[in-house]
Amino acid sequence: MNLIFLGPPGAGKGTHAVRLAHELNIPQISTGDMLRQHVREKTALGQEASRFMDAGELVPDDVIIGMVRQRLQQPDCANGYIFDGFPRTVAQAEALSSFTDIDAVINLIADDEVIIRRLSGRRVCSACSGTFHISRLENPTVCPDCGGTLIHRADDAEETVLNRLEVYHRQTEALIAYYRNKGLLLDVQGGGGVEENYAGVKRALKLA
Ligand code: ADP
Ligand code: ZN
Repeated sequence: MNLIFLGPPGAGKGTHAVRLAHELNIPQISTGDMLRQHVREKTALGQEASRFMDAGELVPDDVIIGMVRQRLQQPDCANGYIFDGFPRTVAQAEALSSFTDIDAVINLIADDEVIIRRLSGRRVCSACSGTFHISRLENPTVCPDCGGTLIHRADDAEETVLNRLEVYHRQTEALIAYYRNKGLLLDVQGGGGVEENYAGVKRALKLA
């Protein structure tokens, strides 16, 4: 099964994609995580990408498309995969359609207000990519799942969050109509609690 999680930053794409990928035993492919790894390793790609990421802007399409195309050639992608944070522009979606078929697109719906609250308190595990809200952590720097170090992403600072939301509305939201027209879109409410939202994802995919 080849799936896409679509939705604004902070809608829960990462949380649900990690969990579903685990259950289906297929990889979760987060272009954001891949880019952050390039930045950490100071590759040429990472150096080019980081100025866009720090500003909350999109990394250029050709960089992303090349990176994803390569990723899909890895053997673990043979039985399917879940995209999280890709595609983010119609150009990326068009490129993707030239090298793979998508079975369904889960459109996670959440209001801007909910997103701002979630992202500004978000902490991300540098080891397992798990995401947590500060209000629910006993220790704000230790991952409750794996003991890894939690970080506050630079682009989760409030000003950058507002820009990322604007970028979503301007450049990514058009993908809702794009995939709806192809008959692939499944709308799922992302504004509630994690369990409730995840149950919606499973129902939409007829997995529960
Ligand atoms: P979120 O969904 O919470 O915004 P991500 O981890 O998916 O976070 O992305 C972080 C940043 O990485 C984005 O703001 C953008 O700069 C870059 N990025 C990730 N995926 C893409 C993509 N498909 N196209 C362009 N830029 C991307
Ligand atoms: Zn962890």
